[in-house]
Amino acid sequence: MIEARFPMAITSRPRPLVAGNWKMNGTRASLSEIKAIADGYDVALQNRAALLICTPATLVLTAAAACLGSKLEIGGQDCHAKASGAHTGDISAEMLADSGASFVIVGHSERRADHGETSTIVKAKAEAALRAGLRAIVCVGETRAEREAGKTLAVVRRQVKGSLPEGASRWNTIIAYEPVWAIGTGLTPTIADVAEVHADIRKTLRGALGADTAGRMRILYGGSVKPDNAAALMAVANVDGALIGGASLKAADFLAIAAAYR
Ligand code: PEP
Repeated sequence: MIEARFPMAITSRPRPLVAGNWKMNGTRASLSEIKAIADGYDVALQNRAALLICTPATLVLTAAAACLGSKLEIGGQDCHAKASGAHTGDISAEMLADSGASFVIVGHSERRADHGETSTIVKAKAEAALRAGLRAIVCVGETRAEREAGKTLAVVRRQVKGSLPEGASRWNTIIAYEPVWAIGTGLTPTIADVAEVHADIRKTLRGALGADTAGRMRILYGGSVKPDNAAALMAVANVDGALIGGASLKAADFLAIAAAYR
């Protein structure tokens, strides 16, 4: 039986976060979408949810400047574990913070797969984010083969425990559950499956951080969230927002998803 979140319970839950991940998309011409999101993020929605767009690193500075005076937050998509040094092509958490970012995604499955990032590396990156005063969005999620083998909960538990930064709190760390097979495919887990994994992540966090922090830490769902499925996914117990790839590139779609919290 799926436990929906009723209005009475909203006040005791973490403030939802609706976050966009632009991945390797966007040039300065795309800043009009950022501005349109900032313009559409009215006070009524601000009272219900925090909104964030994680742009490519090339756009963080200009996007943050475009959002001055707005509550829309800007973030990065990855950071190096070190603050500076001989790491050609990499970007530190301090550099993102200096450019106006307030969040950074770490451990996205595309980084884990394409760059061999283990949970140990992800944890170090999350700790770098905290050191720089950024909030870390730590991504976890099983592959299709792992789900079909019945290993989803074990894989996600291991990733959560292994990737959580030292000093994690409800303020500085967010978990994003993103089944790898649901990213960019148009496929989503059933509502019951989302509920099961999110409840299990909450339990894992309770074991690692204690009941108070675990109860208030945001756990986002990500993977083919669209305007037409957002309300159902966001209503699942222990889903405290969304991480959105493709549908975050257009302001109209992103705002339609965020409207699930209106
Ligand atoms: C993502 O890349 O984090 C993601 C959830 O992508 P999409 O929404 O396109 O599935």
